[in-house]
Amino acid sequence: MTNKLKYFIGNWKMFGDYSSIKIIYRINSFCSKFKNRGKKYRIAFCVPNTLIYFFAKKLKTKFISIGAQNCHHHQNYGPFTGSVSAYMLKKIGAKYIILGHSENRMKGETNRLISKKIKSALNQKMNIVFCIGETFKEKRKKKTFSVLRKQIKESINKKYNLSKIIIAYEPVWSIGTGKIPKLNELKKIFQFIKQECKKIYKTKKAPVTLYGGSVDDKNIGSFSSISDIDGFLVGGASRSSKKFIDIIKNYYK
Ligand code: PEP
Repeated sequence: MTNKLKYFIGNWKMFGDYSSIKIIYRINSFCSKFKNRGKKYRIAFCVPNTLIYFFAKKLKTKFISIGAQNCHHHQNYGPFTGSVSAYMLKKIGAKYIILGHSENRMKGETNRLISKKIKSALNQKMNIVFCIGETFKEKRKKKTFSVLRKQIKESINKKYNLSKIIIAYEPVWSIGTGKIPKLNELKKIFQFIKQECKKIYKTKKAPVTLYGGSVDDKNIGSFSSISDIDGFLVGGASRSSKKFIDIIKNYYK
């Protein structure tokens, strides 16, 4: 099994209240049994904004971070009813932020807007989980690679600090559907994302790249054969401590 640092990031979407911290406590107590855990994997939970401050205050471990799921592109404060900026999220304890999630792209988020959001989160020195992925229609038309290239190129400016950007490949047709890509296709897609980033950003080090889409405790083992996958963005299954713990356990089996 791999010795490379892996990421397990939960996306809670619009779920949870204060009592949900018990889910994270259970995961923390499972993880705290392992020595050198910080060298093996990193964990973050991107929770609703209503929970960030409370969770970040309660968690006494540096090993599990709390994150947000989106922000306004404006840098700090502004006349944007119902919005919050990366600055505000960072101030209440968010260390990670998911940007470009397909559920937000479907509501009209463009690559250009996502690029501005990435910039404002980078200014706050947050770790960005930048989501890319093709729809089923695009996949059927064999447009996966061109869609991914465009999403990357138009959202990550050449001047951005790539080391703070984690790319999450999330095929839209896989989110919440129980469907996962064929492993041989996934392998090629991860190679493509990494090579493309090296080429576009003229760097030897490709960004950390995660897979997301219907990951659960049953299918996680199948991904371990693809060494280019640096971790997982987990939606539904991250709201169950048992499933999340089993995802980690089964990955390292
Ligand atoms: C997600 O929405 O980021 C996600 C990966 O969801 P799920 O795991 O539920 O498919």
